[in-house]
Amino acid sequence: MADIYLTNSLTGKKEKFELHNSKEVGMYACGPTVHNFATIGNFRTYTVADILFRLLGYNSFYTKYVMNLTDVGHLVGDADTGDDKVEESAKKKGKTAWDIAEYYTKIFLKDFEALNLRKPWIFPKATDHIEEQIDLIKVLEEKGFTYKTSDGIYFDTKEFEEKTGRKYGELSTLDEVLEGARVRENPEKKNARDFALWKFSKKPGERHMEWESPWGIGFPGWHIECSAMSMKYLGESFDIHIGGEDLRSTHHPNEIAQSEAATDKPFVRYWIHVTFLKVDGKRMSKSLNNFYTISDLQKKGFDPLALRYLYLTAHYRDSLNFTWESLKAAQTAFDKLRSQVVGYREKSSRTTLSPEKQKKIDDFRNRFTLAVCDDINTPRALAAFWEMLKSNIPSGDKYDLAMSFDEVLGLGLQGFQTQKVEIPIEVQKLAEEREALRKAEKFEDADKIRKSMLEEGYLVEDTPEGPKVNKIQK
Ligand SMILES: [Zn+2]
Repeated sequence: MADIYLTNSLTGKKEKFELHNSKEVGMYACGPTVHNFATIGNFRTYTVADILFRLLGYNSFYTKYVMNLTDVGHLVGDADTGDDKVEESAKKKGKTAWDIAEYYTKIFLKDFEALNLRKPWIFPKATDHIEEQIDLIKVLEEKGFTYKTSDGIYFDTKEFEEKTGRKYGELSTLDEVLEGARVRENPEKKNARDFALWKFSKKPGERHMEWESPWGIGFPGWHIECSAMSMKYLGESFDIHIGGEDLRSTHHPNEIAQSEAATDKPFVRYWIHVTFLKVDGKRMSKSLNNFYTISDLQKKGFDPLALRYLYLTAHYRDSLNFTWESLKAAQTAFDKLRSQVVGYREKSSRTTLSPEKQKKIDDFRNRFTLAVCDDINTPRALAAFWEMLKSNIPSGDKYDLAMSFDEVLGLGLQGFQTQKVEIPIEVQKLAEEREALRKAEKFEDADKIRKSMLEEGYLVEDTPEGPKVNKIQK
């Protein structure tokens, strides 16, 4: 197996992935805020996380994978200002925050499955870990990293730099910009970059989600949940933390600062950031009304796995432009790939391989493995996949390689079944013609018919009861 290389945002370099003092990989992904539908932009990040999770398994690592669900504390404003997103959504829809969180979590999990994303070991919710968050804030308080304002308990970033000798925000490449951008909306904040650990309820009883704490009734800030939950499940130092590029400048530096201030240990070794998905060449934004969800795609007749295929066509550090045309092209390519693979499944007989063919098989496997291990280069891996399908290696080996590649790509090729439907009379006639040719041992001609049927979307399977025709499911 090849070594895995990942671009680590901490160093900006591609680094060899190595385990440190443990047998298993600890991996944490910042999950959705369940105040609304997750978009196809959010799902790009979760799909890259899924491919990395699969790749680690492919390389024989056992991975403890955690993805949180943010159901409290994520505020509308980046500088801990404005309403809580879940409470705000509840207000607009006349529901409770608990109902909103439950509703969007359910839909998120349904979309997650539709994209064939493997379930993490655990999906911890922020509201189930209030005690852990309070305990972590207590540690920070005892060590002198916090202060109180009229609206909450804050983390002192300057104190962090002075006490630990570490620079705050080392992940960020936009330090200066950020300092200015984080408007000091709360004049009681000591430094512009300080962030809330605990916010007080303005009027206790007004929010749906609030808890008692040593500092007063309120709710945890967004950043503290990821530190509390990742360290609970993966330990104080763990291997991989992955998230969208929007988290790189504020959320992740905050997670590092508060975790390392509490434990005096390096928090995470490899930070991976996924570049935004664009829609029609523009960043997705509310004002442009260009947010799409998985169900928007399904309503237009697209298979969510075609979106997964589209994600694979770009490297995760490059921006990917979504258009309906690009999705259509991805659906066509994906259907073709799937029907070819299904076609090879029926011909899985083995023949003795010439050394030349065996070498070709090994080469395809190596090319694919090197591509995915090289910073998750899925476009290169897909190219190797297609070349393999077009090559002259035996069908059974093509099928085996396809199944092995799909362990990483996750296009659901193995579970794919053909569907029984009414078969048109012309297609039935073709199948009979093919069977006659087979009986006359004119295998090449018979195969030509089989291929043309496959192109029309019909698969002939030779069963002990005779040939059976199925329509390939879209
Ligand atoms: Zn997070």
